[in-house]
Parts: sequence; structure tokens; C-alpha cells
Amino acid sequence: MCGIIGKIGDENVVPALLEGLKKLEYRGYDSAGLAVESGDSFDRVRSMGKIANLENALQTHPLSSNVGIGHTRWATHGKPSEENAHPHYSPNGKFAIVHNGIIENAEELKSSVLSPDAHYSSETDTEVIAHLLEMYYEDDPVRAIAKTMQVLRGSFALGILCSDYPETLFAAAFGSPLIVAKGTDGLYIASDVGAIKDTETVYKLADREIARLHAGEIRIYDHQGNPIEKKPETVSVDAMLMDKGDYEHYMLFEIMQQPDAVRNTLIPLLSQGETVLDD
Ligand code: GLU
Repeated sequence: MCGIIGKIGDENVVPALLEGLKKLEYRGYDSAGLAVESGDSFDRVRSMGKIANLENALQTHPLSSNVGIGHTRWATHGKPSEENAHPHYSPNGKFAIVHNGIIENAEELKSSVLSPDAHYSSETDTEVIAHLLEMYYEDDPVRAIAKTMQVLRGSFALGILCSDYPETLFAAAFGSPLIVAKGTDGLYIASDVGAIKDTETVYKLADREIARLHAGEIRIYDHQGNPIEKKPETVSVDAMLMDKGDYEHYMLFEIMQQPDAVRNTLIPLLSQGETVLDD
């Protein structure tokens, strides 16, 4: 498990990305990183360990942009290291991506779908996704994402930047949580709604749905890249759920939260003294 955050705003998004990553730290991490749009390419900073280390690295290599993606990693393929930390780039730098999940057929895709001469700069399964996106890309990232999803086996939540599409953020998911939201100060993607400030209207991406965020608008597409109408959900953004408050550790916080979790789970299932288990 790890965390993904992405934002398009009117101002520099780096502080909001860092803030979001801190809120997602409870999901586990061994490294973290950010990539932002920089001219017609990307710039990134990655570091091992806690978000605080990433903040330090940003002191020596500051990033500033109004579009960016961030990641906390919990390694599944390749050791925790700076090279394996996300975001990852496609071979020609057309795409920058963050990924939460596991691609089970990554090795198979390297030998059967991707060029045998391809060079990989990490040991991750994620980099295979970046290679596939660039291979399938003609001029429409949504189509490239749809084609890439067809060959992936496993689980993924993806945040994607494409250098041909400035100020645009793409997202897709299968078997890993990902929400897309309009906040008061920009458009967001995140693994968890608590990572986003001041929003109550969110889209939870269903399996194989794709999102495109641009110019204050969120568009959702089906698994083939066709636009669909999707109703936003109104969620109560109880950021407290994510904040460990005065507790020293998330584990302690979660233990103390158990009575509330049980109550919140059961109350919707009780009606006039009866237990209702429709689903
Ligand atoms: N499988 C990817 C990796 O090992 C993503 C892991 C995660 O969800 O943090 O880099």
C-alpha cells in the first residue's frame, strides 16, 4: 500500500502535494517523491524514508509548478531506493507516472510486448507502465491509458502527466482506490479523500475508469477511452480520520478508533430494531 496525490492549481502545488503526502503516510512508505511540469518536460525529486527527507531534498533542489504528482512508496518490485522511488518517467520522457499497486505480469510484458532492447532505469513493475504508455501513445493520452490497461494484470491506481498536455492530469484505477476531486483551490487526485483539503464533491474511480483533469474540469472515460457521465459523490471529508491527532503512532490512533469504526459500520445496517443486510 502506498499513497498517491496529484494537483493542478493556480499557484505552486508543491506545498499541497507535500501536505497530502503527509496525510497519506499512514498507508506506509519506504520512500517518497514528487514530479512537476517544468517547461515542456518534468522535474522530480525523490528520497528514501519519510516525507521529512523529501522536504529536505527539496531545499537543495526546489520544485515549483502549478501541476504535479506525488507518491509514498511501499516497495513490491525492487528494493527501497531513490532509483526505484516514484514518479517514474517513460523512456523518452513523454510521461511521468505514480503508481499504487502491483503489476503481476511486468516481466512477461517486458519480454512479450515491449522492445527487448528497452532500457529500464529502475527495478519496478511501475516503469513497465510508463514504457507501455509511450508505446501506445499516438496523440491522445486517454487512448494510450486505455490500451495500456488492457495488457496489465494486477492492481493499479495511476497518476499520470503527459508532456504534450500541459496543465493536465490523468488518472486511472483497477483494484486500488483512487479519487478525483474539485477542491476550492484546484483539481486533485488522491488515494484517500483525507489528503485533499476543502472538497466535498469527489468521483471515486471505478475499475478501469480513466479521468482527465484540466482547466477546472474533470472528465471521466470508460475502459475504452469513451467519455461517460458519472455522478460525483458527496462525502463528508472527515480529515480527522487521517490525522493521528495527539497519538504518537498511527497504530495507537487506529486502536483507539475501533469503537467508532464498529459503530459507523453497524449504524447504517440497523433500522427500527432490525438488521438490514440488503447487499
Ligand atoms: N509496485 C510498485 C513499486 O514497487 C508500487 C508499490 C506501491 O504501491 O507503493 O514501486
